[in-house]
Amino acid sequence: MLLRSDDINCDNKNLRKFLKITKDVPVLLAAEPRWLTKPETKSAVELVKQYKNATIVQHGYDHTNRAKDGEKKSEFPSSRSAEDYIPDIIEGKKILEELFGDQFYPVFVPPWNRFGHNYHILSELGFIGYENSKGFLDMQPERDFIDKKYFWNKLQTNRKRGLMFHHSWLNDEGFKFIEELIESGVIQWKSIRESS
Ligand SMILES: [Zn+2]
Repeated sequence: MLLRSDDINCDNKNLRKFLKITKDVPVLLAAEPRWLTKPETKSAVELVKQYKNATIVQHGYDHTNRAKDGEKKSEFPSSRSAEDYIPDIIEGKKILEELFGDQFYPVFVPPWNRFGHNYHILSELGFIGYENSKGFLDMQPERDFIDKKYFWNKLQTNRKRGLMFHHSWLNDEGFKFIEELIESGVIQWKSIRESS
């Protein structure tokens, strides 16, 4: 399975902790390029680069909601024009390639898992894969809470490709859950490089 955490956009205690406890398994980090070029986020980039088990993929550009009133949140709603969003995606990809080199893998993960346009455009922009929430079990439908019973039940009945977390939303209990899950060895973790 894939172990994914979204919203790599700054250095914080939770990012450090997440990387530390997952250091022995492959992890997939969805990064927001717009925020990683700032001087104050340089340490986040340096930190992630120390963890070679982590693969970076592109999580939109700035994770800003551009949906119209009444639409579900999306950085790339269908109402947003190609002339407007394509340069952002290209720029974001360039940023992540420059910051992370080979650690970046050209897979696109849209914020809120929504992309209101034809996916083919992404392959034209150089992406070899696309991920949304479909193959993933969302481990935090509610912030700060992991329902272990629900998780084990889902794991047995519903074949998913991966588990999706938001490291910033993890509390001590959440971290402990991940730590124990890794230690238990019940899941065979895979890299996105082998899975797409
Ligand atoms: Zn996100």
